[in-house]
Amino acid sequence: MYRTHTCGELRLADASKKVTLAGWVQRVRKLGGMTFIDLRDRYGVTQLTVNEKTPENIRLAAEKLGREFVLQAEGVVVERASKNGKIPTGEVEISLLELRVLSAAEVPPFTIEDESDGGEELRAKYRYLDLRRNPVKNALILRHRVAQEARKYLDAQNFLEIETPFLIKSTPEGARDFVVPSRLHHGEFYALPQSPQTFKQLLMVAGYDRYFQIVRCFRDEDLRADRQPEFTQIDCEMAFVEREDILQTFGGMMQRLFRHVLGVEFDNIPRMTYADAMRDYGCDKPDVRFGMKIKELTPQVQGKGFAVFDSAAYVGGICAEGCAGYTRKQLDELTEWVKRPQIGAKGLAYIRLAEDGLKSSIDKFYAPEELQQVAATLGAKPGDLILILSGNEKQTLNALCELRLEMGARLGLRRRGEFAPLWVVDFPLLDWDDEAQRFYAMHHPFTSPQPDDLSLFMSGDREALKTVRADAYDFVMNGVELGGGSIRIFDAAIQQQMFKVLGFTPEDAGYKFGFLTNAFKFGAPPHGGIAFGFDRLCSMFGGSDSIRDYIAFPKNNAARDTMIDSPSHIDDTQLKELGIDIAGKSE
Ligand code: ASP
Repeated sequence: MYRTHTCGELRLADASKKVTLAGWVQRVRKLGGMTFIDLRDRYGVTQLTVNEKTPENIRLAAEKLGREFVLQAEGVVVERASKNGKIPTGEVEISLLELRVLSAAEVPPFTIEDESDGGEELRAKYRYLDLRRNPVKNALILRHRVAQEARKYLDAQNFLEIETPFLIKSTPEGARDFVVPSRLHHGEFYALPQSPQTFKQLLMVAGYDRYFQIVRCFRDEDLRADRQPEFTQIDCEMAFVEREDILQTFGGMMQRLFRHVLGVEFDNIPRMTYADAMRDYGCDKPDVRFGMKIKELTPQVQGKGFAVFDSAAYVGGICAEGCAGYTRKQLDELTEWVKRPQIGAKGLAYIRLAEDGLKSSIDKFYAPEELQQVAATLGAKPGDLILILSGNEKQTLNALCELRLEMGARLGLRRRGEFAPLWVVDFPLLDWDDEAQRFYAMHHPFTSPQPDDLSLFMSGDREALKTVRADAYDFVMNGVELGGGSIRIFDAAIQQQMFKVLGFTPEDAGYKFGFLTNAFKFGAPPHGGIAFGFDRLCSMFGGSDSIRDYIAFPKNNAARDTMIDSPSHIDDTQLKELGIDIAGKSE
C-alpha cells in the first residue's frame, strides 16, 4: 500500500501504530536538534518529526527538503509534547523511520497558505498550485456537495439525468454563440450551446417527462466582472406541468439544498410580481432582506418651480433610517457615488429629518409642509434621511435600486448568513427596443404568454404586445438571480406568432428552429422548466461574491485562461484544414 492513512486522519488513539503517509511538504521547521515537517494532502496536515533517535540517512534527507516536495513517509504515531489545538491531527506526530522523496519541487511562485502572498494574476497562472490552498479546495468540495444534493433531490423526484450535445446550432438565449468550424464541411460551423434549451424541449416531446442535467453552457458576451464565457447550470424541464408545479418542485429543491448544505431552513418562498419588484425595488431581483422601498414622488413634487424635477419623467426616493446625522461631506460623497457612470444619476436631492427640523437640498423650492408630505409618503420619521433621484424612469429606478442596495450595505442590513428567497413572477413577455423599433424576447422565444394574455398576444397590436405577461419566473436570493425559466409554448400557431412578433421571416424561423417546430407536430406535451446558475449558487452557499472561486479552472475577467494561454493562435496547416482563409487571419 502506498499509504496506510491520509494526512488528516491520525489521532491520539492511533499512538504507537506504524503508519505510512504521502503528501506535500507544507513547511519545514528546525528547532534545536529537531526538524518538524508538516505533510499535507487533500485531507489535512500531519507533523513528521526528526530527532536524535531518527536514523542518520533520514536526518540527512530531511535536511534537503523544500516546500512542496512530494514525500512518502513511514513512522510511528506518537503523542506530541506540545499539542496544536487548531488542527484535528494536532495531538500526534510521526516519528520518522523512512523517508522517500517521490518528487522534488521548485520553490513555488507564491506561498501555499490560506492567506497567500501571491496576487490574483500569479495564482491564476499557476492555478494547480492555487488549488492546493485550503480556501480554494474547500470551495470545490462545497461545489461537489451542492451537485450531489441536487442530484439526490432530482433523482428522488424521478428526474432523469440526460446529456445533450455540445456541437449544435445556435440556441436562443440572446448572447453571441461560440462557434466551431467544421473540418469536414468547409464553411459550416457548429455553435456551442448557450443552454440545452431546445434539446430539453425535444426530450419532453420524446416523452422523457422529467429531465435534468448539470451542464456547461457557453455565451460569448461582452466582458463584465464576474462573467465566465463557460459556466454551469442545473438545467431542468418537466412535462404536464403548470407554473405552480414548477415553483413547488424547484422551491423544494432550493429548500433541500439550503438545508443540507448550510443548515438554513425556509418554509415559505414569497412571490412578487415583476411590476411590484420594479415599482418597489427598481429591479427584477430585489434583495428583500431589508425594506427601504422606493416610493414614486413624481406628481407630488412637480409644478413647484424646481426645473430638474419638473422636466423629469420620474422622481422617486428612499428613506434611510437613522441617517439624518449624515454630514455635508457624507452627502457630497454619496452624490458623487450616484453620479458614477455605473449608476448614472445626474444628482441627488436629500431631506434630513433632523431633531431641530427639516433640512433639505431643495428647500428653496418647497415649503416645509411640502417636504413633510414627501417625508410622509416615504414613511420617514425624525432621525431619517430621504434620498431622491429623478430623470428617465428606467434609469432612475435602476439608480434608486443601486442606491438602496448601497445604503442597505452601509447600514448593515444586508447581513451575511441571512437568506431571503423570492420568486419573481409575471415578467413581461417582450421587450420593446425603441432604437431598433423591434421586440426582443425577454426570456427566450419559446416562453409562453400567460393564458389570460393570450388574445392580446395573438392580436399582434404593438401597444397590446408591450403589456403581455409571460408565464416566466425567476428564483432570487438576497438580490441575486439564481435561476429562471418558463412554461413553454407547445402550440404551433402561438409559436409562429412569436417568431413573427420577434421579426423572424418564416424561412428564418424554419432555418433556425424548424427542427423544434417540426417536432411539435408529432405530439408535444405541455411543458416548462428552469435553469439555475450552478457556479453562482455555489458562491452564494460559500458566502463569496465571486463565481470564479468555485470553478476549478476559471477564465479571467478578459475571458482568458492564462494558465494554458488560451485563446491562442493555431497553426496555418490547421487553419487550412478547416478551410479558413489564412490571408484574413488577424494578428
Ligand atoms: N434556458 C433558460 C436559460 O438558460 C432557462 C430555461 O428557460 O429553462 O436561462
